[in-house]
Amino acid sequence: MTRPLDDLDRLFEILHGGTLCPTCRGKGGYSKITDDEMKAIMKNAVDYVNKFSVMKKTDPARYEKPIQYGSEVARQWDEPAVP
Ligand SMILES: [Zn+2]
Repeated sequence: MTRPLDDLDRLFEILHGGTLCPTCRGKGGYSKITDDEMKAIMKNAVDYVNKFSVMKKTDPARYEKPIQYGSEVARQWDEPAVP
């Protein structure tokens, strides 16, 4: 089965790959994501929210697959800090 969030995984691999910046070395106060990368993340989020919103209305059976997958993955995450 193709994972529904493969595009997002690839985006994060691109953003998180590479070596630590030799100038700031991971110190806080320095931007680590370019405006274009941030825009790509936000556009991806909007695209997926829209995709699933449309799918929920037009093809509820298909919609359930990625929701089920997300629920299974989310069980492994930490509890939310905000209840
Ligand atoms: Zn840097």
